Amino acid sequence: MRKNIVAGNWKMNKTLQEGIALAKELNEMLANEKPNCDVIICTPFIHLASVTPLVDPAKIGVGAENCADKESGAYTGEVSAAMVASTGAKYVILGHSERRAYYHETVEILEEKVKLALAHGLTPIFCIGEVLEEREANKQNEVVAAQLASVFSLSAEDFSKIILAYEPVWAIGTGKTATPEQAQEIHAFIRSTVAGKYGQEVADNCSILYGGSCKPSNAKELFAKPDVDGGLIGGAALKAADFKGIIDAFNN
Ligand code: PEP
Repeated sequence: MRKNIVAGNWKMNKTLQEGIALAKELNEMLANEKPNCDVIICTPFIHLASVTPLVDPAKIGVGAENCADKESGAYTGEVSAAMVASTGAKYVILGHSERRAYYHETVEILEEKVKLALAHGLTPIFCIGEVLEEREANKQNEVVAAQLASVFSLSAEDFSKIILAYEPVWAIGTGKTATPEQAQEIHAFIRSTVAGKYGQEVADNCSILYGGSCKPSNAKELFAKPDVDGGLIGGAALKAADFKGIIDAFNN
C-alpha cells in the first residue's frame, strides 16, 4: 500500500549552520518517536552533504529541491542528479511551481530531470498544481492532467517510484489553504488519471501529497481525506516544532 509522507521544502532559507541546527533539532525530536509516516527534509544543495549524515536514516530521508536536466558537463552553476545522490540524499523535488514560474522549467525540461533523477536512484517528488486564475476558471483538472502527462512517458515501473505533490499555487506561502474537500476532490482526480494510464494498482500505490500553507492546525483534517497521503511543507518546515506538529497529525 502507499506510504504516508511528510516532506519539508526549506526553499532558499537557512545558512549552512542554521540548516544543520534545524536538522539536528528535528532528529532529536524524533529520536524516541515512531512517526506513522515517512519524514523527508529537502534542503538547499549546500546543506545536503552535511545534513545527510546527521539524521537517522531510519527516521528522516534527505532530498534536494532541484537537479539539473543534464547528466554532466559545461553547465556552470548547475548540480546534477548524480551529484545529489553522491551526498547520500535520496529524494529530489522536481516541478515545484516556483521553478516552473521563475526559472521557466518546461514540461520537456522536467521530463528530463525526472528521468535523470530516477537513473541515479533518486525518488522525485513531482509537483503539479494550478494557479488562481485556472482555479477560478475551473480548469484545475485540465492543468494537473497536462502537468502529469509530462511524466507519463515513464514506464509503469519507473512511475511507481515517484511521489506526487499536488500544490495549488494560490495556496503556496499565502496562508490560504485548499479545503480538505477541495484537496480530496483533485487528489481523487489525479489518482484516477494515474489509474487511466498505469492501472488501478499503480494508482493505489502512488503517494499523493498536498502542499500549500499546510500547518499543524490544518494537517490532520487534510490528511484524513482518503486520497491525501501527507504533505509537502514549505514555511512550517522551517521550525522543528511546527514540522513535528504536522508529522504528529498522523499519530493521533
Ligand atoms: C511549498 O512551496 O512547497 C509549500 C507548500 O509552501 P508553504 O507550505 O509555505 O505554502
